[in-house]
Amino acid sequence: MKLTGFKSLKELIQYFKDEDVAREYLEAQRWEGCPTCPHCGSNKWWKIRNTHRYKCGDCKKKYSVTVGTVMENSNIPISAWLMAIYVISAHRKGISSIQLGKDIGVTQKSAWFLGHRIRQMFEEHHPLFTGMVEIDETYVGGKDRARRAKGKILKAGTGAVNKITVFGILQRGGKLIYRVVDGDSNGKTLKPIIRELVDRGAIINTDGHGAYKDLDKEFAQHEVVSHGTGEYVRGIYHTNTIESSFGNLKRGIIGIYHKMTRKHLQRYCHEFTYRFSTRTMKDYDRFEGLLQRLPGRLRYKDLIAKK
Ligand SMILES: [Zn+2]
Repeated sequence: MKLTGFKSLKELIQYFKDEDVAREYLEAQRWEGCPTCPHCGSNKWWKIRNTHRYKCGDCKKKYSVTVGTVMENSNIPISAWLMAIYVISAHRKGISSIQLGKDIGVTQKSAWFLGHRIRQMFEEHHPLFTGMVEIDETYVGGKDRARRAKGKILKAGTGAVNKITVFGILQRGGKLIYRVVDGDSNGKTLKPIIRELVDRGAIINTDGHGAYKDLDKEFAQHEVVSHGTGEYVRGIYHTNTIESSFGNLKRGIIGIYHKMTRKHLQRYCHEFTYRFSTRTMKDYDRFEGLLQRLPGRLRYKDLIAKK
């Protein structure tokens, strides 16, 4: 079954109100008419009568369309999962688990768990960043608030004192990645990430932060726009795009995700970078794009585990 796309959440809810329709839709997305065994990769199968399951013609194991995806072993209907994936990928600034639960008709606790499993799907593995590349860092969390909340709660703010560094690399006109960095933001913590992700031929744009000193010795070009002396743009050289993406992240943290802990921050970062990178796409295309990469599931046990 191929759909032409949903224009709104209302249309999507209307379409998926029947769980069988949702399941068939997911099967079509994953398998395109030919079920594939998640255990051995075989395309030989039997449908097990009166169930939604299949039996593998080679390894003889049984499976359904959700095995090996974030939806595996979940009591939440597939229709709710699909709605949640749509809602989370469409909201520009993110959505709280309370609101998500209301939208798709599950409890806040279920919505919270579902949200984190879905956020795992936003993680992207990019080829090296090339061309015009903007690099910058921002800080979330704060000493006083964190202390009052036993070190658990982060709040968006400015300045680096006892805050967590979110480091960002953006290819102009293209992709964006955030990394949550432990420890201070300096050359020792940030440069290895730049070396790992950026092509040596890139033109790197940064501000005057000391962490970025001497990048011109390793990369084709390094342009420093010195915010300290009031300079923000010099011709085509600036870090405005990545700074505006950080603005999005911070508004999301303040407005939606009031309680965000260090261990979940990287997943929220995946969510924000995916949405930013796909900001010119239609909601439906973004939704379908995400379904193309249903990954292995994140277990509840791992999610709540203490580091
Ligand atoms: Zn098999």
